[in-house]
Amino acid sequence: AGSAAQAVKRGGGNGFAFFEAHMQDGVRDQLELARDLRAALEDGGQGLCLHYQPKVSGATARVLGVEALLRWQHPQRGPVGPGSFIPVAERFGIITALGDWVIDEACRQMAAWRDEGLRLRVAINLSVQQLRQPEALLQRLQQALARHQLDASQLSCEITESVAMEDAAATERVLQRLGDLGVSLSIDDFGTGYSSLAYLRRLPVSQLKIDRSFVQDLETSADARAIVKAVIELAHALGLEVVAEGVETEGQAAVLRAKRCDKLQGYLYARPMAADALVAWARSPEAAQAGVIFDDTPGF
Ligand code: C2E
Ligand code: MG
Ligand code: MG
Ligand code: MG
Repeated sequence: AGSAAQAVKRGGGNGFAFFEAHMQDGVRDQLELARDLRAALEDGGQGLCLHYQPKVSGATARVLGVEALLRWQHPQRGPVGPGSFIPVAERFGIITALGDWVIDEACRQMAAWRDEGLRLRVAINLSVQQLRQPEALLQRLQQALARHQLDASQLSCEITESVAMEDAAATERVLQRLGDLGVSLSIDDFGTGYSSLAYLRRLPVSQLKIDRSFVQDLETSADARAIVKAVIELAHALGLEVVAEGVETEGQAAVLRAKRCDKLQGYLYARPMAADALVAWARSPEAAQAGVIFDDTPGF
């Protein structure tokens, strides 16, 4: 902000000078992050880790699966959020390597949980650029699943609605192949793009995640309630399961349960947590009191 203000002075109110100086700062910053992210990956993922957030059943409060969310502890800057470094990774051609690391790590963790007797479905987030290289993506997924002797159906992939819409024909082909591999597919941030349920019906998708912006407004906006109700009913009519993301209050959860939302995810239940913290949480008295239990019966 300091250098931007200087730029305004230097430029004597010239809007262009202001913009340019501001951009240079941003680009230098991004280049630095990109370099450090590459170094982290070359170092076997040093500083990277996955946190896991439960998806809780609306009907029974059982934890049926978790979403893996990438975290990065930068050696100098401390924690950097995926909202900052994922766009950098996409811009500088690092997202495929980063996504590969996520695939391997999620599968390794799933196998570790299985060996402890905990059967959890793990969802990973996929970037558009991973979908644009279907051969590499499928091969990586297949290898990671095989290495850990995991059933593909235990892994799901989340793709944002806007990505699913970007190149509909190509997306349809790659999702079909992912579906054939046996992984389940989920449309993330639903409601923020402009896809039609008619198009989604053609995709081998089994889950829709209602974007947090709708969930946030559930208690205050009749429109949000109407949209959420319509989405849940249509999704169910098409045989899709619905997850609400960003559930923060009991009030929101009550509305969602009344509308038969299948799964709820949000800070109300748990924040994304490191793998060992997740297991400790699941076995904690608070979780038990909230009625939260892991469904570790085989074959759920
Ligand atoms: P997303 O996939 O839609 O993930 C949900 C985001 O909402 C996460 O933010 C999560 O921490 C946050 N969240 C969950 N519950 C609540 C809640 O109750 N209230 C609020 N305010 N927020 C909640 P996060 O972890 O910062 O991730 C942001 C986005 O970064 C993700 O959105 C996803 O698009 C992307 N991302 C994260 N990990 C990966 C990854 O491994 N690969 C790719 N390609 N993208 C990733
Ligand atoms: Mg997601
Ligand atoms: Mg989401
Ligand atoms: Mg989101």
